Order: sequence, then structure tokens, then C-alpha cells
Amino acid sequence: MKLPGTAWRTIHRIQNRWWDARAVASGYCNARSNPTGVPGEGAGYTHWRCALKRAHEGKHRFRNATWGDDLRVTHEPVQNPPGQPWDRRGTLTLRQERAQRRWLEGQWAQMRERRREAQEA
Ligand SMILES: [Zn+2]
Repeated sequence: MKLPGTAWRTIHRIQNRWWDARAVASGYCNARSNPTGVPGEGAGYTHWRCALKRAHEGKHRFRNATWGDDLRVTHEPVQNPPGQPWDRRGTLTLRQERAQRRWLEGQWAQMRERRREAQEA
């Protein structure tokens, strides 16, 4: 059966929410390094979740990537990185999609403005 792309995105969003709820219920920290998906507001991938237990000390960790409250991601490999049993889909949430679209439209507006200024000069 072939489903349209919008159906898959919806399924992946529901799966992500379900796994997020299970992770929080199972006591994982589940913090994100890239909550909005907008460039400059966090780093790493939007599907990364902290695999350490809630109220852990130190930085958040997704496999070998770590980040603090400033959302700056660094690569700190360890022998056996902790993991969650559920790998999230890379599909953005509706809110992330809106935020990215808004960011992109802002970038285009700046580009148009710069082009206009270059033509006038
Ligand atoms: Zn954490």
C-alpha cells in the first residue's frame, strides 16, 4: 500500500510523541539539543534526545554528542554510550516546520533587500 507523504509525516509525528511520552514515563531526561529546528537556536539533529536518566548531573547526551543548557553540541565519545530503546524519526513537528518556514522567509526577505540595495548602488 502506498501512502502519500503527508500521511507518513503524520504517522512519524505520532510515533515521535508516543516515544517521547514513553521515554519521560520511563524516567529518561529526554532533553533536546535542537528544540526549534531553526538554525542558530540549538545544534545537532532535531531527533536527538538525551538518553540519561532524569535529573542527571552534567551535560545531556545523545550517543557521543553532549550539550549543556546553552545547546552547544560537542563530540565526547565514550565506550558504551547510553541509549533509549526508541529512535525518533527525523520528521519535524508542526511547530518546528512553522518556525523553519518563518526563518526561511526572513532569510529570503533579507536577500531581496540586499539585492535591491545592490541594484540601487
Ligand atoms: Zn539530559
